[in-house]
Amino acid sequence: MSLQWEPQWVDEVVEYAGMRLRVKRDKVTGLYACPVCGLGDNATYLLTAKDLFYHIYAHAKKAERYRARVQYEEESREEE
Ligand SMILES: [Zn+2]
Repeated sequence: MSLQWEPQWVDEVVEYAGMRLRVKRDKVTGLYACPVCGLGDNATYLLTAKDLFYHIYAHAKKAERYRARVQYEEESREEE
């Protein structure tokens, strides 16, 4: 059994809980590729639309934390 496969990516619009997202989906396995992680070494493959949207949501939460930290750093710099 081979542990690698030759993915055939096709663009697909995925809908979940009223949200729509254009992502790459592998025709061979049916896996979705996270558009934020990309298709390189850091690629993340998700099995269902639900998994995909929870994964994207996690990216958004991470970005939110980062934004809050940057804002905080800017505020503390002004006090100096
Ligand atoms: Zn991702």
